[in-house]
Amino acid sequence: MKPNKLCASCNKPASVFQSHSGRFLCRDCFIRYVERQIRKTITKYNLIENKDLICIGVSGGKDSLVMLYNLYQRQSRIKNTNKIKVIWIDEGIIGYREESKNNLLSFLSKFKIDVDLIKLSFRENFGMTLDEMVEIIRKENLKLNPCSVCGTIRRRLLNDAAKDNNATKLAIGHNLDDTVQTLILNLLRNDLFKVGSVKPHTSNSNPLFDIRKEFIQRIKPLIRLTDEEISMYCYFMDIPFQSNPCQYSETFPILRRDVQSFINTLSRRSHEIKYNLLKVNYELIEILRSPKKIAKKFGRCKKCNYFTGPKRDICLYCEYKSLFGL
Ligand SMILES: [Zn+2]
Ligand SMILES: [Zn+2]
Repeated sequence: MKPNKLCASCNKPASVFQSHSGRFLCRDCFIRYVERQIRKTITKYNLIENKDLICIGVSGGKDSLVMLYNLYQRQSRIKNTNKIKVIWIDEGIIGYREESKNNLLSFLSKFKIDVDLIKLSFRENFGMTLDEMVEIIRKENLKLNPCSVCGTIRRRLLNDAAKDNNATKLAIGHNLDDTVQTLILNLLRNDLFKVGSVKPHTSNSNPLFDIRKEFIQRIKPLIRLTDEEISMYCYFMDIPFQSNPCQYSETFPILRRDVQSFINTLSRRSHEIKYNLLKVNYELIEILRSPKKIAKKFGRCKKCNYFTGPKRDICLYCEYKSLFGL
């Protein structure tokens, strides 16, 4: 950044250039901007009510830590709110999760965050570690992407743990970049149904939540912040996070990474692109969300009775279980 620039908000020397707004900001005003965006998202979409018990899935990455910090501050400020519960999942990736766990513990003590920590593991709760599954995938040459397997199992374990702990909300650290990448991916996969499900929260009016006891409502307070803004916030706040990606996302390239670099290239030309995609996503949701259509699209898994996508007898989670002989 060029020196001698002044903060657009308070006129002190600036430390960061915000490309989408074209403004220079100082450290403090930037931190305030990020925290205000989170508060605004929560208020605008009414993501949290006082009676809510919030579970947060924390991985040790920047998004989940920023979300935890901000939701914790919010809950501590407001009277009569429940304590937050943190769900931490050990996927069983040797060398990787130890680092993230240490990160999480030092983060909690550094910022004096007092939460209940719920520890889960693929080994205990699913029956096998991700390392073991990848070994089978390689040996038997299965057409499976470890990141997809991991994601499916994580989502199930998070929902089940939130349910077991009487949570009314499950907070997910998806940011703006994750969200618009998912939109493009769903379009590329011709999955219009999923396009209709990406938003700051899963819907109350969605017929799926008539059976709320099964799916805990998911909220995404970071949906209006970019990857870059969250990294910068961690840097300014001195939040230590795990930045090296999991080894499997490196060795098994996924389409998401190509979409990510495509959107980032476009964003350098036109800074509003990500926000435009988010708006398009919201508008598509309104058009697509005919409750009857949604109800029709869902079936029940014949093995575990969970809801599962269209044209499926057995859900992905159970399919993986039988694939891995569990
Ligand atoms: Zn300032
Ligand atoms: Zn199932």
